[in-house]
Amino acid sequence: MEQTKDLELGLTRRLLTKAKQNPYRVVVERKFLDKPFCRAFCDWCAEESFNFPKEAVSRALLAVELANKIDDSHLSCRALGLLASAHFISSHYTDANQLLADAEEIADECPCCLSEVFRRRGVFLQHKGEMAEALSLLDMAAAGYQKIQDMDGIGRVEVNRGVSLKHLGRDDEALSSQRRALILLSPSSPKIFHLAALVNIGYITATGEYYQFALAAQHLNEFREHLRGVTGFTRVRISLSWIDGLVHARLKERKKALQMLRKARKALIRLREDQDAIAITADIAKLYSETSRFRLIINIIADTLDSLGDVSGTRQLLQKILYFARREAQVTQTYIMELRSAVNVHMPFLLGEPSSVNFSSPS
Ligand SMILES: [Zn+2]
Repeated sequence: MEQTKDLELGLTRRLLTKAKQNPYRVVVERKFLDKPFCRAFCDWCAEESFNFPKEAVSRALLAVELANKIDDSHLSCRALGLLASAHFISSHYTDANQLLADAEEIADECPCCLSEVFRRRGVFLQHKGEMAEALSLLDMAAAGYQKIQDMDGIGRVEVNRGVSLKHLGRDDEALSSQRRALILLSPSSPKIFHLAALVNIGYITATGEYYQFALAAQHLNEFREHLRGVTGFTRVRISLSWIDGLVHARLKERKKALQMLRKARKALIRLREDQDAIAITADIAKLYSETSRFRLIINIIADTLDSLGDVSGTRQLLQKILYFARREAQVTQTYIMELRSAVNVHMPFLLGEPSSVNFSSPS
């Protein structure tokens, strides 16, 4: 049994690698007509929609076509939900709502499908600022997942629930939602949910009644303990070091902060997660600039140019920092901040003021 599962995981991974190279293949080649692959492809599309929102709709359409070819109503429902969310991030609200209604119809009382629809609808309502209504839909989604003991599903809902609770001023509950999410999410869940929960812990503890970075550090440490001895989660572990590093920077434990951040940066470069690698480079440079360590800024920026080359048009910004770090402290800081906001807007910005931290509720 265990062996069959491993084989299946291996196949899914291989197919996904091929699909990432050219997503359009998935609706052309027969080998992609595979249920676990289709689920993994939907998750990948959801993740990609954060980095490349302009392509979210065209990717989700591929998922819908693939699911329809496989002819499985659960998969079609999931893919339609994905497409609805893709339209939602593209501000096509009418399409988004219509598609979600279509998904609900296909769901046909299946608790897993219905919960997913309720969860997405809850997120849509959050964006409209209707937090109480959002919360009651999210509660329904959680109850549905509870009924079928889908812990990963509950984990996803908790990330979103925590956002509504925070907006409703229920900070304690918001914090426990995010903690619960981290414990319940499975390694196969799209990493955006883990990342969002981590970011949100930082956010909740940095705002409102808390402003307690020590508490954030405690929660992050708890999660690190939870991950001990568990396999997988590579990307999540890196983000954990990243966010933990930023929290320690706020705690004025600079040495520890830089240690964590530099470790995470190395790993991101190794994985060629270019956007994140540049974002974390900016975070580190910001910390260096606070104590006027301009030689270190020059080194890290030069290394980034060397190892990543031209990434999302940031070469010019990197070169400007390199140039001004030798001359003008103030200008250097400005360009570092510009670099940070040029990449990866959905990632935490704990180095800034709490108001500039993004609160994250992935759909
Ligand atoms: Zn279902």
